[in-house]
Amino acid sequence: MKFSELGLPPTILKVLYSMGYDEMTPIQEATYHVISAGHDICALAETGTGKTAACAIPLIQMVDTKLNAIQGLIVVPTRELCLQYVSEIQKIAVKTGVVPFAVYGGFSKQIQAAKIRHEVHILVATPGRLIDLIYDGIVTLGEVKCVILDEADELLNVGFLSDIEFIMSCLVHEHQTMLFSATMADDIKKLTETYLRDPQHISLITKQASPKSIEHYFKYIHPNAKQADLVDYFQTEKIRQAIIFCNARHQVDRLFGSLKKQVKDLEFIHGGLAQEKRTSIIRRFRQQKIHALIATDVAGRGLDFTHVSHIINWDFPRELLQYTHRTGRTGRMGRRGLALTYIAKHDLSNLRKLLQTRKLTAHWLGKDGLNPEKGGESGKAQARAKTGKKRLSRRRRPRRRQSASKAPASGA
Ligand code: ADP
Ligand code: MG
Repeated sequence: MKFSELGLPPTILKVLYSMGYDEMTPIQEATYHVISAGHDICALAETGTGKTAACAIPLIQMVDTKLNAIQGLIVVPTRELCLQYVSEIQKIAVKTGVVPFAVYGGFSKQIQAAKIRHEVHILVATPGRLIDLIYDGIVTLGEVKCVILDEADELLNVGFLSDIEFIMSCLVHEHQTMLFSATMADDIKKLTETYLRDPQHISLITKQASPKSIEHYFKYIHPNAKQADLVDYFQTEKIRQAIIFCNARHQVDRLFGSLKKQVKDLEFIHGGLAQEKRTSIIRRFRQQKIHALIATDVAGRGLDFTHVSHIINWDFPRELLQYTHRTGRTGRMGRRGLALTYIAKHDLSNLRKLLQTRKLTAHWLGKDGLNPEKGGESGKAQARAKTGKKRLSRRRRPRRRQSASKAPASGA
């Protein structure tokens, strides 16, 4: 279905057209009328399928520009996502007089407060800074008609849950609530009922949240051999742009230190960097001035990158859902993408779970870690492989022992 069939005001339609948005994506088509009719929704669709605009287009139309107050509130888990979200709304709303604005930590609260006092209709916020601004009396939510939790399952996860409870408790009047995500674990799904009133559940996810446009490669490798392998991969594989995910900041720092001379235009990002630096790295990455970015999961959710051809999981993600989000930074809007995940012995059971639950087709580079018949090293085969090595060393050692046994100390 085309946007022109929705009866959108020309101010929005023309801009969408100039952005190259002609056909609606399936999630946009499935949610537009439901949102416009005022229903609460929980909408699930694969990564990179246009959930931002699905929410932004009806939201912009809800705003009464004569009323100088926050009327739409969007909560997102990371600062980078906050900026990206507001930039998408800004583009779509450019001719409507609707003013969106982002508030997040690591940036001057005074500047944010001044802007909010002046005029903001749609506020995009990370939970911590939003709560700060509510406490300070700078943000008031009395006129909010619609609240959106993007990457909803992450926001309702333990790390953010108490913040979200507080924010939602500030919305005492009637309002519409919308949850968007590519993933939703069952326990979190139950929790959503607390915040949704008679909701419409829209899920375009059938088997897997990873788009078909992504190919999933795995490499079974000893951790000590990973670095040389990765350098070799960068030299031999045609990589347009890559993100290399690690599970911890110190790992990102360490890997950057050891790879920076070997991989061109390499940068790193994690939550320990100053916000200005984080913002500038994401901007330069989008401009393709950075070829490869080593990152923690701070870059794992929601960020829209056009040119990323490869996602590399240096570490297997701690949570299986995060695999979907990390790999979802490539293969967006039908483009092709490739994910390579390094697998160590201790990752094999989690990998099995991943392949079962996500129904992914795994391609192995080198040995198949899970399937001994295909030359893999899992289970008995691995044991055999190890024993083989031991046998070899045992075979050598006795000879030395034999000679050693000639010494009187052997006691034999
Ligand atoms: P998601 O939130 O589902 O991961 P995004 O909202 O980040 O996806 O959108 C992914 C990409 O698709 C963005 O680059 C966005 O500009 C583009 N996009 C969204 N809707 C359309 C559309 N109808 N036509 C063309 N491109 C679109
Ligand atoms: Mg998104």
